[in-house]
Amino acid sequence: KQPIQVIGGGLAGTEAAWQIARAGISVILHEMRPKRYSPAHHTEHLAELVCSNSFGAMASDRATGLLHEELRQLNSIVIAKADEHSVPAGGALAVDRGQFGQDLTATVSNHPLIEFRRGEVQSIPDGIVVLATGPLTSPDLALDLHRFTGMEYLSFFDAASPIVVGESINHDIAFMASRYDKGEAAYLNCPMNKEQYLRFWSELRQAEQTELKGFERETAKFFEACLPIEEQAHRGEDTMRYGPLKPVGLCDSRSGERPYAVVQLRQEDKAGQLWNMVGFQTNLRWGEQKRVFRLIPGLENAEFVRLGVMHRNTFINAPQLIYPTLQFKQRPTLLAAGQLIGTEGYTAAAADGWLAGTNAARIALGKEPLTAPPTTMMGALLEFISSASPKHFQPMPPNFGILPDLGVKIKSKPERYGRYRDRSLADLASWKNQF
Ligand code: FAD
Repeated sequence: KQPIQVIGGGLAGTEAAWQIARAGISVILHEMRPKRYSPAHHTEHLAELVCSNSFGAMASDRATGLLHEELRQLNSIVIAKADEHSVPAGGALAVDRGQFGQDLTATVSNHPLIEFRRGEVQSIPDGIVVLATGPLTSPDLALDLHRFTGMEYLSFFDAASPIVVGESINHDIAFMASRYDKGEAAYLNCPMNKEQYLRFWSELRQAEQTELKGFERETAKFFEACLPIEEQAHRGEDTMRYGPLKPVGLCDSRSGERPYAVVQLRQEDKAGQLWNMVGFQTNLRWGEQKRVFRLIPGLENAEFVRLGVMHRNTFINAPQLIYPTLQFKQRPTLLAAGQLIGTEGYTAAAADGWLAGTNAARIALGKEPLTAPPTTMMGALLEFISSASPKHFQPMPPNFGILPDLGVKIKSKPERYGRYRDRSLADLASWKNQF
């Protein structure tokens, strides 16, 4: 039997290769480093943490903490090594990155069923394959993937607006309407009077931006068609009012008036729990985004599940292309995982890698591929990325907004998140019993 091939020894690929080997199947793990480096990687280690050394909040009633716990239950190698090499970090699962990388690399490459091959893969091979080449996939492979998926289904840049939890929006201020009342009222609109607009404009111009890395500065020129909101503010007092904040065709039926400016939010998920700030792609620092965007009437207490970013990021249009089993619809023996499918963060990449590896092994064994229960953080994330609107698809980190409703209203956030956790871990346990 041909070994399964995993391309990319990052967070997702390393976990995938380990799960394939655990299932008793031979696997070749391809990693291009150190022969070739992405602009963000600097070591030879598997699963290099390119920036922060933190896997996110540790408590299991927090979104990443719940995903850590699910992965522990599923015998994830990435989380086991993160636990083993953790360092104190005030409630976050942070690691000594050197020890973590060295130990993971030695453990994985010493597994008798894993052949670790250093070198770049430039085209998608035949057979059972897991693609996990991450946000900085090498250009030749990206080109081949481009050919495979079709031009419009692979992005090279992420110009994402912040996403807000629906129930944190003040609905006494924000109103539902579509411009010129066309079709069903589809947008939540946050109206501003002149004074509110001018204050917002002034704060936006003064807000601190993130420093772009060399390779990001180089690619920033591609964003002319999609200007950061703060850049629009710098261009003039009214630029935003002729752009994303234009009020034309929008009337607040409660006052009967047209606002001076309007911030629109578009529904992001099927259940209407998440709302995307239209046209708010930004390079502002995360703390500044929270401070300035909460000046928008209706968003005073906004809870953000992701903040705006503009950076280089290779990702496929997952809702169009893959099933929640992580198989490509066009070719079910090809699977994908990690940031390449539009999940965000180290822990999410390990989770996708777990499922892609497990399913690749199941395909090799002639078994039905698995879909994670949507009530688990892993399942909810994969349900989201495989069923979101393909037209507006943006990467998504783990968060409670994507989990199905509990069916009961629980006001206290810690209690609600605790209930999500209990349901997730119970459903995960019964799912595990089935395979
Ligand atoms: P990666 O971990 O990037 O792994 C992909 C691997 O594939 C790499 O090792 C690469 O060398 C290899 N590869 C690429 N092309 C080929 C090829 N053709 N052949 C063989 N190998 C190939 N997330 C966080 O949670 N926290 C952060 O602080 C954070 N900071 C980030 C900073 C930057 C600059 C970037 C770009 C991303 C950051 N992320 C961060 C997101 C982060 O990339 C993901 O969370 C995570 O690394 C994704 O895992 P992955 O396995 O999909 O990709």
